[in-house]
Amino acid sequence: MDLCARFHERHRKWRKLVHFKFSALILTLSPRKGNRPAEAQRCRTSRVYGKSKGMAAHPSNTPPAGTYRGRLAPSPTGHLHLGHARTFWTAQQRAIEHGGVLVLRNEDLDLERCQPEFVSSMLEDLRWFGLQWQEGPDCGGPFAPYSQSSRLSGYGSAFVALQEKGVIYPCNCSRNDILEALTAPHQGEEDPIYPGTCRPLTTSGVLLNLNPTRGGKLTSWRFRVPDGEEIQFVDGRLGPQSFVAGRDFGDFVIWRSDGTPSYQLAVVVDDTLMRITEVVRGSDLLLSTARQLLLYRALNYTPPQFYHCPLVMNDKGERLAKRHEALSLRTMRGKDVRPEQIRATPLFK
Ligand SMILES: [Zn+2]
Repeated sequence: MDLCARFHERHRKWRKLVHFKFSALILTLSPRKGNRPAEAQRCRTSRVYGKSKGMAAHPSNTPPAGTYRGRLAPSPTGHLHLGHARTFWTAQQRAIEHGGVLVLRNEDLDLERCQPEFVSSMLEDLRWFGLQWQEGPDCGGPFAPYSQSSRLSGYGSAFVALQEKGVIYPCNCSRNDILEALTAPHQGEEDPIYPGTCRPLTTSGVLLNLNPTRGGKLTSWRFRVPDGEEIQFVDGRLGPQSFVAGRDFGDFVIWRSDGTPSYQLAVVVDDTLMRITEVVRGSDLLLSTARQLLLYRALNYTPPQFYHCPLVMNDKGERLAKRHEALSLRTMRGKDVRPEQIRATPLFK
């Protein structure tokens, strides 16, 4: 069974559990181990700290204190482009400079856009470009599995913890509902600030009694942000950063109505369980870092360091996206461009 089909099958079971049996049952779901047929010796150097016992943090998995652990976290939703290549190259350089380990995590939670053929092309293109990782879906490692679609039990545990803490609430607003409820017109790529339509007066003590379906419809769940609180962090490249909850970003979705965790929750859980010490990613995710710091705090997790890379624009000044096929690594490979030529461009200086 291919990756997507397997995910859909697991996802069906999972949705039943999450929406109808909120209790400890979720915790009993055993994680799938990352033992795919291709689980071979592809990683150049494998640093194994101990035998893996599924995805939950296990004492023998603990890397030696002070070990730098970075990650590449591509999504198999299209071909990777120059912008990804540059961010990932920076991530690799930082891991090398720190004598650390680089983890590749396949972020394949997007049910609609996940394409199994993109997983293999993604890994191929990254290797062609010169990236080497020591742990990943193709070679395993002490924190397997390395594909998010196989890591659902960890997200479920975090969801239960947030629910018990009373910091999330169900919401079934569509994007259109939200846009209609806004008093000012919304522009830009960031999600509009949630107007609070479904936000209860208090989130403590009431959620466990709420039925997660409304009018027969499954709901998503939002994290209630502490309005007015300044979220500060020091970025490894950009220096001190500050965002105000409720002004720069509003209550955000941590669990989707399709029964999967949102990006925000999934990466916080994975970066924690995989013992990532520094997250290197594009500066379009600065605001997400502020959101995620709230999740780290609510879940009593220690956050990693953050390093946000500049975004790569095309000649029209647009941010590169997967639709810009001409600048994909795959297209460039097809035109016999060598990775050294790409890495010699000013973009990589
Ligand atoms: Zn709502």
